[in-house]
Amino acid sequence: MTRKIVIAIDGPSASGKSTVGRRLAKRLGYRYLDTGAMYRVAALKAKELSIDSDDEDKLARVCAGMEIVFVHDGNEIKTFCNGKDVSEAIRKPEISALASEISSKKAVRDILVEMQRRMGAGGGVVAEGRDIGTVVFTEAELKFFLDSKPEERGKRRFEELMEKGIRVSLEETVAEMKGRDQRDRRRKLSPLHKAEDALVIDSTHMTIDGVVEKMLEEARRRISQGGNCQK
Ligand code: C5P
Repeated sequence: MTRKIVIAIDGPSASGKSTVGRRLAKRLGYRYLDTGAMYRVAALKAKELSIDSDDEDKLARVCAGMEIVFVHDGNEIKTFCNGKDVSEAIRKPEISALASEISSKKAVRDILVEMQRRMGAGGGVVAEGRDIGTVVFTEAELKFFLDSKPEERGKRRFEELMEKGIRVSLEETVAEMKGRDQRDRRRKLSPLHKAEDALVIDSTHMTIDGVVEKMLEEARRRISQGGNCQK
C-alpha cells in the first residue's frame, strides 16, 4: 500500500499556497486543508455576532461551535460552516484583516489547531497556512515554505479580488497585505516563520505549474523513500 504522508505548505499571504496546494492535493489524490479559511470563518462569525475581537471567551465559544467542511466543486473548493456556503463571504478584505487580528488570540488558535489536527489525522493531506510545519503538524513528512516578492504577491491578490468582483485599489491591496504579513510574523503565538526542515520555494519568477511540478517531484520521492526533508 502507498504511504500517505502529510505535506505542509506555509508562507505569507498571496504567495500562491492555495492554488498550488489545491493542485498538489488533486494530483496526489490527497485531501486539502486550508487553515487560513478556518481563521476567516471564525472572523466572519465574530463579525456576524458583533463579538469584540478582544473577547476571547466569546470567540472561543464561537469557534467551538463551528463545523467546517471543505467540498470539492470542479476545480474549486468551497468552504461550508454549519451547512452554509461561506466561500465568498470569507474572502472580503475586512474579513482578511479581522482573521489576522483574531488569529493572534490563544483561545482561537487552541481550538482551531486541534480541529486541524483531527482533520489531518491519518495523513494523505496537503495542509496550508502559517504554522503548519512549525506547530500543527511538526512531524509532517514534507514541509514547504512558499514565498515571493511582496510586490508580486500584492499584484496577485489584487487580480484575485478583481476577478471576484471585489473593488479595491492596487495600493490598498498591497498595503493591507503588508500590514497583515507583518502582524502574522511579529505576533507572539505561532508567528509565521520557516520550519527548520522546510524546503523554501521562491515563486516570484515561477509559474504555478512550475511550483506544482517541483512540489510533486519532492512529494513522490518522499512517498517512495520515506525519511525526513532535506535542507
Ligand atoms: O491564508 P489566509 O490569507 O486565508 O489566512 C488569513 C489569516 O489567517 C492570516 O493572515 C493569518 O493571520 C491567519 N492564519 C493563521 N494561521 C494559519 C493560517 C492563517 O494565523 N495557519
